[in-house]
Amino acid sequence: MAGLVPAISLRKAQPCQANRDRRDKHGDDNTMTARIIDGKAIAADLRAKIAGEVARLHASHGIVPGIAVVLVGENPASGVYVRTKSKAVAEAGMRAFDHKLPAATAEADLLDLIATLNADPAVNGILVQLPLPPQIDAHKIVAAIDPGKDVDGFHPLNVGRLASGLPALVPCTPLGCVWLAKTVHASLAGLEAVVIGRSNIVGKPVAQLLLAENATVTIAHSKTRDLAAVCRRADLLVAAIGRAEMVRGDWIKPGATVIDVGINRVAGEGGKEVNKSRIVGDVAYAEAAQVAGALTPVPGGVGPMTIACLLLNTLRATCAQKGLPAPSL
Ligand code: NAP
Repeated sequence: MAGLVPAISLRKAQPCQANRDRRDKHGDDNTMTARIIDGKAIAADLRAKIAGEVARLHASHGIVPGIAVVLVGENPASGVYVRTKSKAVAEAGMRAFDHKLPAATAEADLLDLIATLNADPAVNGILVQLPLPPQIDAHKIVAAIDPGKDVDGFHPLNVGRLASGLPALVPCTPLGCVWLAKTVHASLAGLEAVVIGRSNIVGKPVAQLLLAENATVTIAHSKTRDLAAVCRRADLLVAAIGRAEMVRGDWIKPGATVIDVGINRVAGEGGKEVNKSRIVGDVAYAEAAQVAGALTPVPGGVGPMTIACLLLNTLRATCAQKGLPAPSL
């Protein structure tokens, strides 16, 4: 098993022109109080640092980290996401091995491919894009990946190690959420943190990471009573729900830090046509910006961090497999 629970570096978000531009785009500057956490800029900074580490790894050890990205079927959203990932991998100086399989692929054939990738020393990270077609059991596929190459952090061994407070490869979006929170707070210790959502991909691992940072963590979900009151307790609120602008301004404690994971496509002001749609988060942005102390925008907040953290996981997995120390980023 390779990889470490990331030692998340403490950085302050840069108050900058990007913030002012963002305010112009998203809301009225006169009523806006929240500091906007510029995930795009923070992710670009992290990706540049990773590229530097990859170059050093190549120069001093002749190693080029490689990641295999497996896509089964024709899901258009997955296709776009996989292309974005492959581009980011190449830009970081890593090698991308793309495997595009037909939608009718048998589970046994995908398991054979995973076994081949597990055994390939040029492949340091393996990512199987979810969802998978119905004839394939996603749990079986994830469990077949070498846990040391499991750069998505979904393998039961990595999940268990994270829950046990042991070194693990950690899911990318949760890692990005905590990284962003740490650009605002030098320490998360003692903060009241509320995570809305308990999925295995976002909610639960975010909560585990926050617990590891010594926050006092509440996980809320669809059966939580008086969700607004629960949220109002939070110094740090993470929304991972998948419901457009569900978290209102009066759910937010004044000065709180709000991390909005949601990606929801809604009709644009011009109507319901597809080309008039826009992406919004799980938080009512304009309202939240008047109450929160710091806030991630959607798009441009958590999203860019997910891919940057995938690169980070691949770099860390490579170093662990080669017996090299994890880069301190
Ligand atoms: P999910 O698996 O559908 O989980 C949603 C969670 O929200 C569930 O735990 C659900 O509770 C809870 N929930 C739903 N309705 C609720 C309500 N009315 N009140 C309270 N809780 C409610 O979704 P996910 O995969 O975690 O993703 C969440 C959002 O993040 C989506 O918009 C997704 O697109 C986005 N996302 C973004 C990134 C990124 O890179 N930025 C990555 C992954 C996901 P129950 O468990 O009780 O049903």
